[in-house]
Amino acid sequence: MNYKQAIEHPIFKIICEAAETLNVNSYVIGGFVRDFILNRGDAKDIDVVAIGDGIQLAKQVAKSLPNNPKVKVFKTYGTAMLRYSDIEIEFVGARKESYTKDSRNPAIENGSLEDDQNRRDFTINALALSLNKSTYGDLLDPFKGIGDLENKIIRTPLNPDITYSDDPLRMLRAVRFATQLHFKIESNSLEAITKNSHRIKIITKERIVTELHKILESNKPSIGFLLLEKTELLNYILPELTALKGIDEIEGQRHKDNFYHTLEVVDNISKHTDNLWLRWAALLHDIGKAPTKKFNKKVGWTFHGHEFEGSKMVYRLFKRLKMPLNDKMKFVQKMVFMSSRPIVLSEDIVTDSAVRRLIFDAGDYVDDLMTLCEADITTKNPKKFKKYHNNFKIVREKIIEVEERDHVRNFQPPITGEKIMETFGLKPSREIGIIKETIKEAILEGTIPNEYDAAYQLMLKEGERLGLKNIR
Ligand code: ATP
Ligand code: MG
Repeated sequence: MNYKQAIEHPIFKIICEAAETLNVNSYVIGGFVRDFILNRGDAKDIDVVAIGDGIQLAKQVAKSLPNNPKVKVFKTYGTAMLRYSDIEIEFVGARKESYTKDSRNPAIENGSLEDDQNRRDFTINALALSLNKSTYGDLLDPFKGIGDLENKIIRTPLNPDITYSDDPLRMLRAVRFATQLHFKIESNSLEAITKNSHRIKIITKERIVTELHKILESNKPSIGFLLLEKTELLNYILPELTALKGIDEIEGQRHKDNFYHTLEVVDNISKHTDNLWLRWAALLHDIGKAPTKKFNKKVGWTFHGHEFEGSKMVYRLFKRLKMPLNDKMKFVQKMVFMSSRPIVLSEDIVTDSAVRRLIFDAGDYVDDLMTLCEADITTKNPKKFKKYHNNFKIVREKIIEVEERDHVRNFQPPITGEKIMETFGLKPSREIGIIKETIKEAILEGTIPNEYDAAYQLMLKEGERLGLKNIR
């Protein structure tokens, strides 16, 4: 392969010149080189290592660029960053690192390129391309990273036990790269991760969540969650999921393994949506099943109320992982809470009123909910598979038909509270709520259409029943 192609962008020549001026050597390193070789599209973030002062190099490069971009300096890390059109370039001086037990922040001294490659997490992330005049475009691959790219292997440059223990975040990065790239984690690494899994506790929640997001955003997230489970990391990160593992049997009655089922649902939904939060909903849709599981002689295994329990657990889980407790969280809660509704509905004759209630409760998220329910079909019985999908197809058609006619998505009551007060000469009071509820129920049930006149008549009738006087 001609690696010069990777550094065809004019920015690399500019870095080369700037380094020459300062009389230091410089290299592009890491993810950019890896992704070029894997042909993963144009990378927009570039890491440059200088054998010398990285911050000074960044400033020199900025000076040579037409728009003199600002250099952002991170003193504590000894790095500097600048933006050039849509590219983000990070500069760092080559370094040698030594770690202490309780922190993933090492002591740092200046080092050679080799020292810097040694501190990289994986062989495939230690690849460097020379930006020096005499060797421009040469590949520096001390750990056979190219071979590992070809063989699709995640391997650490040094002893994996030390690499993972030094910075436990690397364990999650290994799993994440395995998931994104469909690579295998080499067996010594896998063993070392398992052995050091408890060290994930020293990693901040924010970093953990970033990696979880990247796993969930991959095209087959189950690869990652199976690895997290196998290495026992999952226990520390998402114990709600490990609690779903296993099949119990009493008197010959078994339930399905809800952990593996969940992973199938996540893979299924990932084929149909890139919405990260809908993927989270798929991952968490059954977590309420662990605490609600019961055995009953007559009906076998039950998980009564698992949707409600699950939606409460979503809040606690988001809070624990310091994820935003905002509308995204509420969306996931809603999906989990409603995750059985379309199933119940499709098992029966699909009535208009049931569909209206579904649309009313799910609001704008009714499509997402249907997508989740379809992904939830994991039966291995082809007849049932077809039947369930067909039932949901009917529900989807019915949703469109009913919504077109009745407009109950984002329901606005045709009769306002003010109108009721005006009609009966009321101050804010219980009666208004009762009348509004009666009208809403009648519309959802289908006894009256979602229209002003019909609702007005019903208001008068209900007012009379409540002993109110029409003063108009
Ligand atoms: P992506 O950008 O897709 O997350 P990346 O490999 O570029 O992947 P970055 O976080 O951008 O990841 O890091 C850039 C480079 O820095 C990596 O390729 C790797 O060489 C090095 N690196 C990042 N994090 C670590 C770490 N925790 N330990 C050792 N080296 C790391
Ligand atoms: Mg990167």
